[in-house]
Amino acid sequence: MRVKSNRSKVTFRGRRVLPVQQRLRGSAETAFESSHPGEMTSVEDTAPTALDELVELIPRVSLEYLSLQENTITSNGTDEFPVPELFTSLPPIRDLLVTDTSLSQDETAGHCLPLHTSTNRSLFDLNPQGLPRLNQEDHIQFLNDAIQNVAYIAYDAVRPWVVYWCLTGLSVLGEDLEKWRERVLESFLPMQNPSGGFGGGHGQTSHVAPSYAVVLSLAMVGSSESLDVVDRRALWRWLGELKQSDGGFRMSVGGEEDVRGAYCAMTIVSLLAIPLELPSNAPARASGFTSFLDGLPEYLSRCQTFEGGVSGAPQTEAHGAYAFCVLACLCILGPPHEIIPKYLDLPLLISWLSARQYAPEGGFSGRTNKLVDGCYSHWVGGCWPLIEAALNGPQTSTSTRKQKISNLYSKEGLTRYILSCCQEDSGGLRDKPSAYPDAYHSCYVLAGLSSTQYYNYFTGDSDAAGTIDSLDSALRWASSAICRGYESGHERLVDAGDDLAPLHPIFVIPWAAVEECCKHFNRKTGF
Ligand SMILES: [Zn+2]
Repeated sequence: MRVKSNRSKVTFRGRRVLPVQQRLRGSAETAFESSHPGEMTSVEDTAPTALDELVELIPRVSLEYLSLQENTITSNGTDEFPVPELFTSLPPIRDLLVTDTSLSQDETAGHCLPLHTSTNRSLFDLNPQGLPRLNQEDHIQFLNDAIQNVAYIAYDAVRPWVVYWCLTGLSVLGEDLEKWRERVLESFLPMQNPSGGFGGGHGQTSHVAPSYAVVLSLAMVGSSESLDVVDRRALWRWLGELKQSDGGFRMSVGGEEDVRGAYCAMTIVSLLAIPLELPSNAPARASGFTSFLDGLPEYLSRCQTFEGGVSGAPQTEAHGAYAFCVLACLCILGPPHEIIPKYLDLPLLISWLSARQYAPEGGFSGRTNKLVDGCYSHWVGGCWPLIEAALNGPQTSTSTRKQKISNLYSKEGLTRYILSCCQEDSGGLRDKPSAYPDAYHSCYVLAGLSSTQYYNYFTGDSDAAGTIDSLDSALRWASSAICRGYESGHERLVDAGDDLAPLHPIFVIPWAAVEECCKHFNRKTGF
């Protein structure tokens, strides 16, 4: 049985896209023919109209993008370094069901393909491998401007975040952060509440997310003077109020409970050497809990979904940023090779994480059926070193040269997406080519790019790394520059001048900042 086709109704938009529409029509007819016979009777009368609508629904950008597949795409890599076909052509299998999501996907791929391939894809110089160079000077300028001049009216509840994003971005670009110390201290001090913790702005209620950003920022600008402005005793009491009877943490007193709360709280506890024992007035004591750690890994475990990803709270949708929060939190609680497989279905999680990287774009999406977005270069990209450490177990600097498992994702794809699609010509990094740059995306895109250039591994052996009751696991990591080639055989994709500084895989600040902060507070006895 064939579907009737009324080709005269189809309005073609131009000669360039004609072959694509013809191919779509042919494919759709084939698809209808192969449908279940019982369903064909009703389809026969309506199919031609539906098919016309399908073709009409596809916007111009999508048709132009699809038409690229009809022709051989000219790679703008050099002869020696051609752009791999994975990034110059569309996936071979295509679902013909048109939805808002599929149209957005087509549009995004349509924006990325030319940036991967055309010869005038960017204003940047190309490196010998045919990739745009990292526009470091303008990105530094963008972040220096953002930390001082961002519209803090709109960002009034996330002031410490803006500072953290800019400082982290500047640090991976090799900038000295010391010059910001005084201003950071001046800005943060009025945000600290006597009852413990920091608000997102002056006079605001304490919240664990900006408190996390404050602690990381203070660690980055260094000095014992800056770290000692935190009232750790009040912070301890306030964190005790956030601990819940199911093991998790609220974001603020009376606020929502999710895995961000757990990761932010345990980062603060770990870096500032806050006692693990719950304050006497902590509500969770009524449930028999005595420690911040009680019930926490079990709570995190309940956030893994049927897809294999991790959600913000039990029974909600899996999301890349929550996956990072859970993996990083677990890595604070114990050695990755012990604690991650104990509390998460690792094969299922790897399967879900693998599905987050798309071709031809090369970047990561945050959720199933969503678009690539530069910030997941960190939120999803940052999950992989933690997963690799869980699979590899403890390693030494010598054994690292014989890595057991690495490259679980395409570092080349992510590097290409970041350099070709996420750089704004005038500075700053962005979600995708259709978006404007901002401090948040600049931070996490650069963090993702940095992560592609280093191999992070857990050094503690299983006997000495401690149990879940000691929070020293997060400090038993090391990093080495990746000196192996990429999947396509390229020895390098970026020039030496575009090498970034490494970030700690769990705390996402420079390694030296983590070490100095922990050394400072571990020297103290009590508060
Ligand atoms: Zn984003």
